[in-house]
Amino acid sequence: MTAAVLDGTAPARAIRERVTTAAAGLVGRGIVPKLAVVVATDDPGAGWYVRSLAAAAGRVGITCEVISLGADAFTDDIHRTLLRLSSDDTVHGIVLQAPLPDGVRVEDLAAAIACEKDVDGANPLSAGRLAAGLPAYPPATAAAVLCLLDHHQIELTGRNAVVVGRSLVVGKPTAQLLLQRDATVAICHRHTKDLAAHTRSADVLVVAVGRIGLIRAEHVGDGAVVVDVGTNTAPDGSLAGDVDATDGRAAAISPVPGGVGPVTTALLLEHTVQSAGAAWCS
Ligand code: NAD
Repeated sequence: MTAAVLDGTAPARAIRERVTTAAAGLVGRGIVPKLAVVVATDDPGAGWYVRSLAAAAGRVGITCEVISLGADAFTDDIHRTLLRLSSDDTVHGIVLQAPLPDGVRVEDLAAAIACEKDVDGANPLSAGRLAAGLPAYPPATAAAVLCLLDHHQIELTGRNAVVVGRSLVVGKPTAQLLLQRDATVAICHRHTKDLAAHTRSADVLVVAVGRIGLIRAEHVGDGAVVVDVGTNTAPDGSLAGDVDATDGRAAAISPVPGGVGPVTTALLLEHTVQSAGAAWCS
């Protein structure tokens, strides 16, 4: 069986078209949607990502301000910046870019992002609201996994979903969203014993670890749908996911690049126009 490709470029394009229309409508009402990205790293991968996010924002009519605080920024500097942006009426979305400087913990900062501008679901209140089934922006990557599955009409109700990885930005919120969609969800992590025994039971397997080749054919059940969230730099410099080969077992698999990544960026922009259009910002 040749696995179908869960392409992310088409759904990303559709989202960007929606966002372009929404942003133009907002500008017509005198609201210029604006995303602020706070950067405190000189990591080249993060730099590349932020430049591409800013360019993508510009193409859909969203202003993107990148606030570079330097890789030696202190918690206080970043905290003050997030508070300032949270109370700035011209800013509708705030992203705190990873990684942070050594010794700076996201847990000490994320609550400074106003929930209504928390377009990447970083504030613990956003996570709590998501878990409680209340309105909140989920982390864009988690939302992108669901968006990709929906675009490709993958049924979730009653199906076994296994998420590998339990980070606050990807694994946990993805599990929450799958649960909201009536999947039966298990979460695996670095201490899970016999990972393959768990992952083989998945109808829908989402992998978000950050290790090239972690998931191989023996981890995948026949006919499974596999979403590969991993973005790793391969020895040859190319981008690689966490899934190595599924040897014809998977029914469908998302590519890296071109799967979850483009949908994630598009959804961050969509969350920003949604925030800009919401009552508290108009
Ligand atoms: P993280 O390091 O915060 O979390 C990794 C998780 O993997 C942890 O929960 C850990 O317990 C688990 N893990 C580690 N080794 C394991 C093992 N051997 N078996 C099972 N679980 C194991 O990483 P993250 O921020 O969640 O990112 C995960 C991956 O997703 C990375 O490759 C990252 O680059 C990628 N990512 C992609 C996007 C996108 O838009 N495509 C966005 C964010 C993150």
